[in-house]
Order: sequence, then C-alpha cells, then structure tokens
Amino acid sequence: MSKEYDVVVIGSGPAGYVAAIRCAQLGLSTAIVEKWRNSNKETVHGGTCLNVGCIPSKALLDSSYKYFEAKEHSDVHGIKLQNVKIDVPAMIARKDKVVSQLTQGVKGLFTANKIDDIAGAGKVVSKNKVKVISHDGEEQELTAKHIIIAAGSVPINIPSAPIDQETIVDSTGALEFKEVPKRLGVIGAGIIGLELGSVWARLGSEVVVLEALEDFLPAVDKQIAKETLKILEKQGLEIKLGARVTDTKLSKGAKKTVTIDFSDTQGDQKAEFDKLIVAVGRRPFTDDLLEVSAGVELDERGFIKVNDQCETNVPGVHAVGDVVRGPMLAHKAMEEGIMVAERIADKKMQVNYDLIPSVIYTHPEIAWIGKNEEELKASGIDYNIGVFPFAASGRALAANDSDGLIKLLADTQTDRILGCHIIGASAADLLQQIVIAMEFSASAEDIGLTMFSHPSLSEGVHEAALAVNGHAIHISNRKRRK
Ligand code: FAD
Ligand code: NAD
Repeated sequence: MSKEYDVVVIGSGPAGYVAAIRCAQLGLSTAIVEKWRNSNKETVHGGTCLNVGCIPSKALLDSSYKYFEAKEHSDVHGIKLQNVKIDVPAMIARKDKVVSQLTQGVKGLFTANKIDDIAGAGKVVSKNKVKVISHDGEEQELTAKHIIIAAGSVPINIPSAPIDQETIVDSTGALEFKEVPKRLGVIGAGIIGLELGSVWARLGSEVVVLEALEDFLPAVDKQIAKETLKILEKQGLEIKLGARVTDTKLSKGAKKTVTIDFSDTQGDQKAEFDKLIVAVGRRPFTDDLLEVSAGVELDERGFIKVNDQCETNVPGVHAVGDVVRGPMLAHKAMEEGIMVAERIADKKMQVNYDLIPSVIYTHPEIAWIGKNEEELKASGIDYNIGVFPFAASGRALAANDSDGLIKLLADTQTDRILGCHIIGASAADLLQQIVIAMEFSASAEDIGLTMFSHPSLSEGVHEAALAVNGHAIHISNRKRRK
C-alpha cells in the first residue's frame, strides 16, 4: 500500500534535511528517504557535508593546525614544547566522533519534527510517486503532492588515476589515512586539493599538487590568488601548474607506492608517492534516481535542470543542492532547501544567487563574495578599492598571525559595495560582515561610519572600507585607485 505525504524528500544532506525540517515546521506531512549507511550498516543522515565533506575535513584541518602551531610557532610566544607528537588514529577517531555527534543530531531533529525517516534508495517514478528500495531489497511506494530531490554529488574519477581507496584515494579516502604519508601527491589544486593537501602537509607529508590549468584558483581575485600561492608554497606545498597526469602505476608488494607520469612546461616527468589524492571536482549524483517515464530533464552537464525557484520541468518536482547548477556548497544547498519548502507552503522566498560566499579553509583562510577586480573590469564598471594588510592590525600581530589582506571593492558613482576578497586568519567570519552589508546594499561609507571593537581582526574590515574613500587611519591611503 502506498503511503501519502505532502512532501517526500530524497536525500538527507544539507539540502534535503533542511528542506524536510522546514516543510515539517510549516505543517506539511513530510518523509525523507536516505540510502547512506555507515560501516555498521546503520542509515546515517547529513550526506556528504556531515559524513565525508565539510565537517570531517574541518575537524582534521583544526587538529592538524593545532599540531603545526604547537610545533612551529609556540617558541615565538615563549612557550617551550618538547617532543610534540601526532597520534593519527586518535586524530581520526576525534573527527569520527564529531561526525557522529552531528549526524545523530540530524536524526534527533527528524524525530522532534515528526518527519518519517525512510531507509533505502529513492527513485522518482512520476510527478507524485517515489519508489523506495530498502537495503534488503524490499520495495515500497510513497505518494507525495510535492517531491524534493536532494541527491547531492560524488567525486569525479579520471581514468589515468583509478581510485582504490588505499593508495589512490578520493576526498573520502584522504580523511582516513592511518599514518602520515611521507610523500603525498594531489591531483587538482581546487578547494579539496588545497584543504586536504594542507592537512597532511602540516602533519609532515611532502606534498606535491598537480594542477592541469596554468592559472592558480582562476575563480579567485587575481591579487588574492597570487598571495595564496605564495603563502601555501612558503608552507611547503609544491604546486605544479599546467601539469597533465597521463598515467599512474601501483608498485608491487605489500606496502604500495604509486608512480605518476605527467607532463608540464618542463616536458614529460615521473613522480613517486606513498599516497595520491584525486580531487578534480564532483559530479551530480543522479545514478538510478529518475525513472525515464517521470520525464525530469537533465542539463548538458548532467545536473537536474531547474529554474531560479528550483522547480524542474515536471510540476511539483523540485531539485536542490549539489544535484542542480551553481556552486557545490552546503550553505547554498541549505538555502535552496528552505526556499523550496517555503514556496511549497505558498510563502515568498528567493535565494540571492549573486551573494553566495565562498571560503577555502586553508591557513590563512581565503574568503570572497560578489565581484572581483577582473570581473568588474570585464563588465566596464568603475570601482574604488580599499586594501587593508593584516600586518597593520594590532590584533593580528598580537596573535602572531598577520599574513594576508582584506580588499573591498565599491562602485565609484554610488559607493555601494560590489565585492570583498580576504586572505587572512578567520577570513570566513570576517567576510560574513560584508555579506550582511551587501544584502542590505550598504556603501563603503556605511561600514566606515560603523564602530568596530578594538582590538579585533574586524577592524581590518573597517579600515578597508575607510580606505575605499581615502580615509583609512592606520595605513597609507596611497594605494587607492579607480
Ligand atoms: P549531499 O550532501 O551530497 O547529500 C546527498 C544525500 O542524498 C546523500 O546522503 C546521499 O546518500 C543521498 N542520496 C543520493 N541519492 C539517493 C537516492 N536515490 N535515494 C536516497 N538517498 C539518496 N561545502 C561547504 O559549503 N563548506 C565546506 O567547508 C565544504 N567542505 C567540503 C569538503 C569536502 C571534502 C567535500 C567532498 C565537500 C565539501 N563541501 C563543502 C561541499 C558540500 O559537502 C556539499 O556542497 C553539500 O554536501 C551538498 O549538499 P546536498 O544535500 O546537495 O548533497
Ligand atoms: P574544484 O573544482 O574546486 O577543483 C578541481 C581542480 O582540479 C580544478 O582546479 C581543476 O582545474 C583541476 N583538475 C581537473 N581535472 C584535472 C586533471 N585531470 N588533472 C589535474 N587537475 C585537474 O573541485 P574539488 O576541489 O574536487 O571540490 C569539489 C567541490 O566541492 C568544489 O567545487 C566545492 O564547491 C566543494 N568544496 C567546498 C569546500 C569549501 O567550501 N571550503 C571544500 C571542499 C569542497
């Protein structure tokens, strides 16, 4: 017999679990279908983000940074530490505990919100029917007035470096190393490559990152990307741009290594690594998700085709998060989940796709919002720039953490903020102030007229805003340009 709901959500990652909770809060009868299982064969919620993405990677970034700081920088503070050691299994176990706490939390929220939590693989059969196949192979059919597809994404594989999750791993395998690899190769200098490369570099690996493009971080403001490259190289990451991997070979024997053939400007080369991370992007996860007769269309890149309200071409069927166009980010996925829930309940809501913040959680962090200089130049918009280097921040110097800068771009005519680009400690949190300001269409002057606590890193945001109009106090305003 088919169970009937107002809404059935497929996938309980950030897009799906947030959509389901908001639907339930709005009084809609809601079920969520999830197929992810842990090694104990229990269904786990939270998708990529909680299980193998945002959270575990940040847990390891934080642990590895504490180790690196203790080992490399405690002397500066007058603290003498001897025999600082790493216990990799303990580090991984802590990461797993954080993950489990959060995934259990999502399960608790489903119970609290009276959401039916159904284990198994969901498939859209028609505009109001979802077939669920349990892990034991049992089938049931759910009827829904609305379907929300939130099936997420999976890593892209490349034929020249097949994943075995032992020696050649994807981002999931790179969160599970049992010891620090002596030599670590990374294919792809994108967000995952730089974050996970940093984790293992801090713990002692010699890291070589092979990036196919000649440009480093092409989506990032050029000045910030240049600064990032300089800082990461100083930290010991060897980043080879324009490097094309043509083949990989595993060694024989118990403890395997991998030899990579690649070519760059210096010609054909070989390199040997103990582990290799492949981080060349992710693809929408639509495998076995849509019955052809349901008629849900995909775009040319395999994403489920949606409009700005996340409606597919089939009325009543919505899709949100990584499985649809746009940046593959948890906060974008969550906002889309909320928007769809609200619109199903006849409320007005729209995601502002022009203001999606991005962060790379290296140290220092890199964070940006809005337009960068190159984009403004290309669109012919006149702008003023305010730059504040953290070397001039009392708080950053007190913390011995003064690498980087804040760059604010504002419209020459209106002074409205058009973009902000930060490399520095706590860049993600600093940027959020500008995200709010931009949502309110603030001008650089509005921020300049706001009082900031002293001493704080946020004062850098204030000074950058003042610098836009040549009024900075603690730095020279000479660099102001149009
Ligand atoms: P997912 O989280 O992928 O969830 C999809 C869910 O749907 C999964 O649980 C899956 O099992 C389930 N599912 C799929 N098909 C079916 C089916 N047929 N039936 C039932 N269930 C199904 N983003 C950030 O914003 N910040 C970060 O710091 C960050 N760090 C990351 C680090 C790493 C290593 C990785 C890999 C990603 C990171 N991301 C980060 C990206 C972020 O994880 C994704 O953008 C986010 O998880 C997308 O959410 P989603 O709900 O769309 O998809
Ligand atoms: P990415 O798109 O950020 O980077 C992939 C990189 O690999 C690119 O620079 C690309 O040019 C390069 N590349 C592609 N094919 C290659 C090849 N054959 N050889 C060498 N280089 C190659 O993708 P990612 O790092 O895998 O991350 C996937 C997604 O996950 C990101 O788009 C991001 O949205 C999300 N993510 C976000 C965060 C965060 O918000 N902090 C962290 C991790 C992941």
